[in-house]
Amino acid sequence: YVIAFYSYAYPIMMAYAAHAFLLEGTIWKLLGLLAVIYTLYMTMAAWKLYISLQETIILRFNSQETAEKLESVRQELNIELTSRKKTESKLNKVMSELERAVNHLEELAAIDELTGTPNRRSFDAAMAREWGRARREQTSIALLMIDVDHFKKYNDIYHHQKGDEALISVAGILKQYAQRPGDMAARYGGEDFALILVNSSEKHVIKLAEQLRRDVRGLKIEHEGAGSIGYLTISIGTAVCTPTESDDYSVLIKAADDALYTAKKAGRNQVKAAVA
Ligand code: GH3
Ligand code: MG
Repeated sequence: YVIAFYSYAYPIMMAYAAHAFLLEGTIWKLLGLLAVIYTLYMTMAAWKLYISLQETIILRFNSQETAEKLESVRQELNIELTSRKKTESKLNKVMSELERAVNHLEELAAIDELTGTPNRRSFDAAMAREWGRARREQTSIALLMIDVDHFKKYNDIYHHQKGDEALISVAGILKQYAQRPGDMAARYGGEDFALILVNSSEKHVIKLAEQLRRDVRGLKIEHEGAGSIGYLTISIGTAVCTPTESDDYSVLIKAADDALYTAKKAGRNQVKAAVA
């Protein structure tokens, strides 16, 4: 439209206007003036059209440019996302390795280094847990306190290294007595061991304790300082109870400890049960 206007209409209109001005008479001059005004008006209209066309083109171009920018940003985000996912999976791997290391450390912290049995810390935790369970479920819980007889003399005669080996052997026997979930054989300290037995009758507990005593004696670990027996032996104090609301597990430990003391006083290498 613009090209057509400027190619054909504009020269004709201008020629007509010039011709009209040259003619005699007011009416022709007026028509010439009108032709000039019309031409100017058409020029302005064409100019406006031209500008709006230009703006449309620029706008189109801009939106295309924006779309391209958005696409490149999307691609960058995708790359970033992939790299983040990779980092995340690496992090997860490191975290699980760390968790495994922590678990291993916790296990190590819970195990007695010499005998490989749970240590005092584990014993306390297990005792608290099982005592709570027995109290809730109103079931029985038993504790055996086990002490190696004349162990100081054993160390003196056979030296510390042999003493360690003897403790490892005793612990090896003891471990076999923690059979059920909730049971635990632990090194209580020095040459003291403890055995938690859940849900067992007093009769059964005493029977097991006797068997345990015999098993250790059956190891036939030579001990010149053990009197006429000649072998390493243990003394055991047992206590069984069903926890009440008011008591904590220290009553069970004390009862088993007292029974052990009685066994020692009675001549060692024997089992004594706590008085109910
Ligand atoms: P009792 O029959 O009355 O129990 O006398 P005992 O000599 O066994 O008891 P005492 O408490 O007098 O001595 C315990 C000894 O156990 C003293 C200590 O050196 C020894 N002992 C404690 N822990 C270990 C250990 O890890 N290795 C060795 N080799 N000896 C230990
Ligand atoms: Mg001892």
